[in-house]
Amino acid sequence: MTTVESPGTAAGATDADTLIGLYRTRMNKGRATLGELFGRHVELASDGVWVTGEEGRRFLNCGGYGVFITGARHPAVVSRVAEQLARHPVGTRLFLEPQAAYAADALVAHTPEGLERVHFACGGAEVVEAAIKLARTQGRTRLVATEGGYHGKTMGALSLTGKDVFQDPFRPLLPGVEHVPYGDAAALERLVARMPGEACVVLEPVQGEAGVIIPPAGYLREVRRICDTHGALLVLDEIQTGLGRLGAWWGADLAGIAPDILLTGKALGGGVMPVSALVATPEVFSVFDKDPYLHTSTFSGSPLAMAAVRGALAAIEDDGLVDRARALGAQLLAELRTIAVRHFGAAVADVRGQGLLIGIEFTEPGLAGELLIELLEQGVIANHSLNSHMVLRFTPPAVLAPSDVTFLYEAFDRACRAQAAQYFPSVPTH
Ligand code: PLP
Repeated sequence: MTTVESPGTAAGATDADTLIGLYRTRMNKGRATLGELFGRHVELASDGVWVTGEEGRRFLNCGGYGVFITGARHPAVVSRVAEQLARHPVGTRLFLEPQAAYAADALVAHTPEGLERVHFACGGAEVVEAAIKLARTQGRTRLVATEGGYHGKTMGALSLTGKDVFQDPFRPLLPGVEHVPYGDAAALERLVARMPGEACVVLEPVQGEAGVIIPPAGYLREVRRICDTHGALLVLDEIQTGLGRLGAWWGADLAGIAPDILLTGKALGGGVMPVSALVATPEVFSVFDKDPYLHTSTFSGSPLAMAAVRGALAAIEDDGLVDRARALGAQLLAELRTIAVRHFGAAVADVRGQGLLIGIEFTEPGLAGELLIELLEQGVIANHSLNSHMVLRFTPPAVLAPSDVTFLYEAFDRACRAQAAQYFPSVPTH
């Protein structure tokens, strides 16, 4: 039995049996079962692209649902957060606080033209809620989202998240929400044209949880035009796609557009702090300006989180992580496709990606999940996709070294071989 010691706290047993027991009795039985399904692995420490478990077992972290573009505990983030922790972690919310002011300024320096005003929160869904509220202040009460889109699970965000299995237990949801097929600009225009000046369109530049769905070329520009033509507000949810993930600072940049509201989160805390942000045009933000108590939350803009934001932005900028994500993404996409097709042939429906958001879609139900579990055995963490069980998703850090990339290829090759042997026992594997 291994234990983690930390000065001043009681050491606790960290073996899987103890933890599964505690999860089952004190947290969530289903989550305990998932822990068993995913191989009973325990995580105790992380550094860069590696996660360390029981008995020093190491895993290459190509998962994390898009959080770790900088890797874990990037020195630029840790140093700022540690310094802030020692000085002033949580603010009074009455005084002026420099970390928040400079974090907002640093974020705006990287967001598309015209987006100038920042509201910070802790999680992604929270800034989706803030966007829904801002849209209402602008008279845009009719929400339009996309099928398969993922925006989080608070009540407002869940109303936009296009997946019945998450919505059904909690109905009735927010009224006035409609979904259109993602990537279909004509369908969007037909709907939005029926609600002139009243619509707020919320979508992702590439759908992440839907299984890395890349829209047709020109789609986002068309969406911007449709919103302009029919007086709709455009909210771009870049919580997963932003901050270099797609090989650009934002999906908006790749499309050459600016939304009215841009949402970011996940990687914004540099893999250290939970933090998210809404960035809006001054016009859209104006009601919050008039009454700063209209939309507040206790930990919004907390100095510790703000230090992490400044660290994350500095790390992405100084280490050239946007360019690295673009180059690494192209390389990984090609090689992962070669390996997958070599072992699974026609059972690979598609391998697609933009930057370091890469999805492998299978024709066989269950294969993506089985491969995810086998990959964990081989020492690589990937993601399943919350809104698509057919897609295995990789969201690796942009700080992978060449030796890490080799490790990934070799582990993926072994995992594919093992799974192919189980799924297609009569077909010889390479
Ligand atoms: N929006 C997108 C595009 C996401 O991918 C996610 C989370 O996966 C969210 C919103 C919700 O973020 P959170 O889970 O931090 O609430």
